[in-house]
Amino acid sequence: MIKDAGELGGDLARALESESNRVFDWAVGKGFETRCPKCEGIGERHFDGQPGKLDGYPTVPCPDCGGTGSGYRNFGEQVALVHSEVSELKEAVAGNLGPWAQEQLLTIHKRLSDMLEDHRTGKNSGPDDHCPEFNKDEIEAADIVIRLMCMAGSYGWRLGRAVEAKIAYNYSRPPKHGKKY
Ligand SMILES: [Zn+2]
Repeated sequence: MIKDAGELGGDLARALESESNRVFDWAVGKGFETRCPKCEGIGERHFDGQPGKLDGYPTVPCPDCGGTGSGYRNFGEQVALVHSEVSELKEAVAGNLGPWAQEQLLTIHKRLSDMLEDHRTGKNSGPDDHCPEFNKDEIEAADIVIRLMCMAGSYGWRLGRAVEAKIAYNYSRPPKHGKKY
C-alpha cells in the first residue's frame, strides 16, 4: 500500500517524463507534430535570438512556441483530440460501468475545457494554487492522468501495460496513420 507519493521514489515521474519525450519524438517522426524551427524544438532561445541551448549561455522561453518547442499544432486542437479520446472511452464503457465511471469521464471533459479556457485567458502559465512549483497546465494534466489511474485501479484495467502496448503499436503505424491530423 502506497501511503504517499514519496514512496514511489520518483520512478513514476521518471518513467512518465522520459516516455512523454519519446512519444513526442515519435509524433514528430510520424508527421503529427512539428518542432518549432525558431528554437529547434527546445522551447528556449539564447538572449540574442539564436535557437537552441548553448552551455553557459542564458536562455529565454521561445516566444514563437510559448516555450513548448512544438510549433504548429495549436493548443485547442490538442485539447479537442484528447476530448475525442475521452468520448471514445465513454462510448466503450457505456452500459458496462456504473454512474461513478461516467462521472469520472465527465470530470475529465470538464478539466480539459478548463485547461483550454485557462490557456485562452493566459491563466495557465501561472503557478498552481496547491503545487506552486508547477503551472496550471501541468497540474490539470496530472489530475486527468490520476483520474484515469483511479478508474484503472477500480476496474482492474492493466493501464500501464495497455499504454506500453498502444505506444508500441502506434510506432508501427504509417505517417499520420493515413489521417489529416
Ligand atoms: Zn520555439
